[in-house]
Amino acid sequence: MDTARQPLIELRHVSHEYNAGTSDKDLVLSDINLTVSEHETVVLLGPSGCGKSTLVRIMAGLIAPTKGDVLYKEKLLIGVSPGVSMVFQNFALFPWLTVRGNVLLPVGHLSADDQQARLEKVLQTVGLGAYEYSYPRELSGGMKQRVGIARALIADPEVLAMDEPFSALDVLTAETLRNEIGRLLADPNHPLRTMVMVTHNIVEAVYFATRIVVMATGPGRIDVIVPNSLPYPRDTDHPEFKKIVEQLHGILTHTNMPDSVAAVAGKVTTKTADNRKRIAPVSLPNVGAGEVLGLMSLLGDEPCDVFDLAERLGKEFGAVVRVVKAAELLEFVRTPGQDVEITPLGKELVSSSTADQKRIVREQIMKLKIFELLIRLIKVQENQCLPSEELIRELQAALPHEKPRPLFRTLLSWGRYAEIISLDQRRHVIRLYEAKGSGRAKSAAVSLPPIAPPPTPAAPPATPPAAPPSVPAVEKPTEPSSDDLPKS
Ligand code: ADP
Repeated sequence: MDTARQPLIELRHVSHEYNAGTSDKDLVLSDINLTVSEHETVVLLGPSGCGKSTLVRIMAGLIAPTKGDVLYKEKLLIGVSPGVSMVFQNFALFPWLTVRGNVLLPVGHLSADDQQARLEKVLQTVGLGAYEYSYPRELSGGMKQRVGIARALIADPEVLAMDEPFSALDVLTAETLRNEIGRLLADPNHPLRTMVMVTHNIVEAVYFATRIVVMATGPGRIDVIVPNSLPYPRDTDHPEFKKIVEQLHGILTHTNMPDSVAAVAGKVTTKTADNRKRIAPVSLPNVGAGEVLGLMSLLGDEPCDVFDLAERLGKEFGAVVRVVKAAELLEFVRTPGQDVEITPLGKELVSSSTADQKRIVREQIMKLKIFELLIRLIKVQENQCLPSEELIRELQAALPHEKPRPLFRTLLSWGRYAEIISLDQRRHVIRLYEAKGSGRAKSAAVSLPPIAPPPTPAAPPATPPAAPPSVPAVEKPTEPSSDDLPKS
């Protein structure tokens, strides 16, 4: 179907690294191949952090990728794309300019008459005719976004690129604007017929897209492309619409919550230094112990759909998936399909006292190769004091696709919560935890598990759990502050 249409934007083997060439380099997109042809609405869907915004900016020529080519109408794109206009989530208006001043910005090179004619037309289209001389501070969020859309449309772009354009708006305003954009796209007399949009909202994606590009993280990549040929205007209650929504639920869950998270941990082999025992650590999702315990307290005996969980928590799907992944890595939940199911160990955790919760978490995280690496690194140091910077360097070497500093913070947060390590904030060194007056010797706290990953599930507790409290105790993890991070 699309082959007959002219390709407008083409991405060929595009990868992007922020801070390329520095020790903080961060590969956010890997080998993206995608073509947007005229009369298509391509929606980039995926959890936050998978590189959607970066990708749409690359398409608009606002970011040059570190690898690969971007073509516009079959010509190599250098600089800002001549045919693509962007609408930003946070409106990006100049507060010192009126609506008129903001909207006219992209067409300053045209004659005054031409500018005026376009301005009147575009303000009419977005329903802002009466607000030409208002300042952004005098407008509601929805009206500000109308200005953003008018500014994008005034240049008669061939492609309208929108980065989460409705997510900063209240539900009703977002609904109204969505309908209006939908009408523009469906209007055969309006020149705008091609759109690229970023969202993490599945229903929004199905509402607009002719193709939904589902992205995955670590590094950001295209997972699946789902075509959507439902006719416009689309009815969100139509069974076919719901079917595509369900299909995307399934894909996103499978992509972001693979069933084998726990099974993968510790089984990756690599050529590393001897003290890493030739076993690559698996990264920890960047969440705190408190978040995992909070999630556990919500789970009942019945499996719970991860999308329902996200709704109950009022959190973005991707954020909930990160917490679920951490819980799965620690063997507190299983994730068959898109369900989250508490394990016997998870149940024990929920009904335990705060001290026992720490013990259970400690036993579980000591099974992770990344903690094994940490403990070994501390033990080979003189005085068993591991400089933070050295740990960051080791993390970078062991997990080259991870951002070492956030990972360092996560490790520290879990290690301190579970009383495995402590941080000397003055000297920026990490030591093994030594319990004060509790009789728990540090050697006991850090006795290493065998190199081979232990079988699951974990051994039952030595002592019976305390009576279950109605609301399980959730202790805030000891989060290291940014002061803990050595300045680079
Ligand atoms: P998404 O839109 O899917 O949430 P982004 O493209 O905004 O993803 O970000 C992808 C990754 O790149 C994130 O880890 C984010 O922190 C990082 N990132 C985004 N912009 C920058 C930047 N200007 N400098 C460094 N890292 C960035």
